[in-house]
Amino acid sequence: MAQWTADRWAENGFDSRLIEYHTYLNYPVAQSLSFSANGTMREVNLEEAVLEEDPTTGWPNRVPTFHGYSFSGQAEAEYVYVGRGQQADFERLVELGVELEGKIALARYGGPFRGLKVKNAQSYGMIGCVIFTDTGDDNNVTEAKGYAAYPHGKARNPTTVQRGSVLYLSTYPGDPTTPGYPSKPDSPRTGIEAVTPQIPSLPLSWVEAQPLIQALDGYGTSGEEVNRTRWVGAFNASYNTGPAPGVTLSMSNEMKDNTTAIWNAIGIINGTSQDEVIVLGNHRDAWIIGGAADPNSGSAAMIELSKAFGKLLATGWQPKRTIVLCSWDAEEYGLLGSTEFVEEFIPWLSGAAVSYLNIDVGTSGPDPDISATPDLREVAIQTMKKVVYDDYRGYNNLTLYDVWYGLGAVTGVLGSGSDYTAFVHNGISSIDMGANPGPSDAIYPYHSNYDSYHWMATYGDPGFNTHKVMCRYLTLLAYELATREIIPLDVGNYGVQMTSYLTELESTVQEGGDNYTSLDLSPIRSAIETFNASAAAMSDLIASTSPSDTETVNRVNAKLRDYSRGFVSQGGLPNREFYKHVVFAPGLDTGYAAVTYGGVTEAITFYHNATMAQEWLDAMQDPTTGLAAAYLEGHILSQDAGVLPKDKLASKMAAASAPYPGGPQAGGPGQMNQPQQQGGYVSCSRRPQGTNSADCLHSQANNNINHIIQVKVLHKDKAVHPALPL
Ligand SMILES: [Zn+2]
Repeated sequence: MAQWTADRWAENGFDSRLIEYHTYLNYPVAQSLSFSANGTMREVNLEEAVLEEDPTTGWPNRVPTFHGYSFSGQAEAEYVYVGRGQQADFERLVELGVELEGKIALARYGGPFRGLKVKNAQSYGMIGCVIFTDTGDDNNVTEAKGYAAYPHGKARNPTTVQRGSVLYLSTYPGDPTTPGYPSKPDSPRTGIEAVTPQIPSLPLSWVEAQPLIQALDGYGTSGEEVNRTRWVGAFNASYNTGPAPGVTLSMSNEMKDNTTAIWNAIGIINGTSQDEVIVLGNHRDAWIIGGAADPNSGSAAMIELSKAFGKLLATGWQPKRTIVLCSWDAEEYGLLGSTEFVEEFIPWLSGAAVSYLNIDVGTSGPDPDISATPDLREVAIQTMKKVVYDDYRGYNNLTLYDVWYGLGAVTGVLGSGSDYTAFVHNGISSIDMGANPGPSDAIYPYHSNYDSYHWMATYGDPGFNTHKVMCRYLTLLAYELATREIIPLDVGNYGVQMTSYLTELESTVQEGGDNYTSLDLSPIRSAIETFNASAAAMSDLIASTSPSDTETVNRVNAKLRDYSRGFVSQGGLPNREFYKHVVFAPGLDTGYAAVTYGGVTEAITFYHNATMAQEWLDAMQDPTTGLAAAYLEGHILSQDAGVLPKDKLASKMAAASAPYPGGPQAGGPGQMNQPQQQGGYVSCSRRPQGTNSADCLHSQANNNINHIIQVKVLHKDKAVHPALPL
């Protein structure tokens, strides 16, 4: 698959290759679960049903249900229902006097990343963890509400199991044996205990979990009385905590350790400005044979996108900026391929990367969903206006923007859960895009055997219409970023968003109570003020810069490219040095969902430590850390001294990243087989004498890309189709 992907890109004119890492993964050998009550014992079925209608569900080499990076071991004990398994759920159980020590946790999927549920169970002395799917998370599209189950209808097949990694994602993504440096065959390896569970865990379907939850009825505290978010699900049960005397689970999880090769496929089109690079990525690995949505809907977009750029290349076109396509391996275990790549090529990326565009589950339903750093939002939204979305729920003459606007016009904040993570935390502007089911659409069988071609073609995206829309969007956004004379990053919006996050932080401080009343938030306040002044100066400079003034254009672009490295703190967040962005981080106890000003916010909400909060605030005044560095770089933006902050940034980045035993690679992946000019403009061979680089974009290209991806501009500002039922 890796070579196949590289070959497709090569066919379309990308210089393509594979990059190999040697990473630690574990594979399932044998998993079992049995349930005992009233002296009788029965095996719990861990398999997903084979469906005649869906050929990949019955493949002889289909993947069993298990958790990646789970702990090999057995456990037998009474069990306790722990809700979604968040820290607050466990605190509530302790408050209610429920015995946790020595018991098995039965946790519900949803909310925090699954690895954190196991982590929390372990930290409360529990000896195993079973995580189940609850139809209470399926809106009303359930069999109980009259919908037929897959393959006959939109409801979840009752045997659906969500596989997935239990790595402590919010502590450290990437190969857990090589934190901070790339996994090469001779790289030194460290232990994994700090970032993987040390108790066994198993995933379970709703149909198998329901009797286990019912068996707790009448024991411990009722779900109603526990009164925690999403505690009570849709089973015919009271969701009591348990334990029920003599009602036990016996679990066995046998995994095999491997240090094995993984491959990222990389495809490159060199731009005329090779020190300005747009990186696009999507992962290639899946938990199952199918993976039609996760990741293949995104992977298909990356192949089709390469065809579009291939057609442009065939006309003699060359982008202004270098475009790098990445097909990541081992994302599912914990973002391994992308993290190892960033760890290897950080010197090159920190000097050259303009933006990273991520597509993971490109389509699992018709509703677009984007999350981005603040500076990418404007171009992301404007580009939506150029992408036609015909046949959205039967409506035509809409743009992607119309649909997105009608759904609430939300641009999410990046936490973690996909391959943008290592880019964001090295100060590279990023966007993540995809399309999801709406509340009444077919339930997406995430990480299940039923995430298959048959499911996609029947329920997820019949006709593959949304696939086409998302591919056109990704292609056009990459095109905009790679070809606009001035990089379309909106620095000003960073200040706007930081101000709104500050308001949130102020309420977090208030909610924290008396301990935090003396916290001094002025360092953030003044950092934002200085940033805003610099951003305004930058906007003025851009507005007054003529595209033909190559020298100023180059200087402006270098600053736009580099300024966001200033959000990277040295040393990272408390107890998790990988996460270095001072404004955004995945929540320590959420994993997926973001927190803002993580160092300060989590000192209050997670560590309950006012001293730590103030230390983080004070650190923002230190020019070598955090937001102070960000506004310092922002300040440089407004100085027209012609000094690129690049050298300073490069040394800061080098200092910030952990030492790599072999010494960091000097260049980017483009240097592996060919010399590449660094730090300057490569002259465009197609530029006619006496013209500037804008002319060199071969103005035809603008028309061509629109023709190739069939873009028509239909959008009228703010118009939402009147008939749109949103
Ligand atoms: Zn995925």
